[in-house]
Amino acid sequence: MKIALVTGGSRGIGRAISLRLAANGYHVIVNYKSNNAEAEKTLSLIRDQGNSCELLPFNVADRSDIKDALGSWIENHPEDTIDILVNNAGIKEDNLMIFMKDEQWEDVISTNLHSFFYITRLVLQGMLMRKFGRIINVVSLSGLKGLPGQTNYSAAKAGVIGATKALSQEVARKGVTVNAVAPGFIRTDMTKELNEKELKNLIPARRFGTAEEVAHAVAFLASEEAGYITGHVLSVNGGLYT
Ligand code: NAP
Repeated sequence: MKIALVTGGSRGIGRAISLRLAANGYHVIVNYKSNNAEAEKTLSLIRDQGNSCELLPFNVADRSDIKDALGSWIENHPEDTIDILVNNAGIKEDNLMIFMKDEQWEDVISTNLHSFFYITRLVLQGMLMRKFGRIINVVSLSGLKGLPGQTNYSAAKAGVIGATKALSQEVARKGVTVNAVAPGFIRTDMTKELNEKELKNLIPARRFGTAEEVAHAVAFLASEEAGYITGHVLSVNGGLYT
């Protein structure tokens, strides 16, 4: 059984990635934090396609929760290896830095950056032993260029980009690739309060992207054929680089 773990798979981009990897023949472990109804919906959508999946809720911002839930899953499945890890779960808590509260900084850094370390370190061991793995980190245009009002989010995503590049060099000879996908504006719950009509004028493609378009890029980097691509950041942003 080929297995993929997608964090934040209950909604938005993570749901589209889960559906896409399941359609490509992977048994998908769908992680989420607390939205059981949406997670069940992802599960039904995958099963309706005739594909296989399971739910594994845990808080990616909490290292003991990761250890309890994901660590136990790994221990209880000694014959199975997670072939694909998509670190997708993320939050934003925007504020100008001068007004930013400690919790806004800490929550965004732990959910978007610390999660990468604690989850990937657990999953990596099996990949290295099997000499195959695909790690894809969902970052952001914010992490590449920095956006005002997002010092916390930009720092977290830039941190993951640096870690992607460093880890890719540590594990390349073991058949494990580590890449990132950097979406621009994508229509999901995270962007539902933004004014697409106004913002689309900044985007060369003149529209927000879809979760499925991001999922397509993730599936490409997750494919066996993408084995010589590592340490790369693939933008999915309709041409919005600056
Ligand atoms: P979304 O619609 O808000 O969905 C967020 C997902 O992450 C949900 O499944 C949520 O689970 C999960 N999640 C949040 N905090 C979590 C935690 N502490 N532990 C476990 N799961 C958690 O977001 P999205 O737009 O799909 O974003 C997905 C990723 O793309 C994020 O990393 C985001 O930063 C990045 N991104 C998005 C955009 C965009 O325009 N949408 C642009 C650039 C980058 P629950 O359902 O349980 O809450």
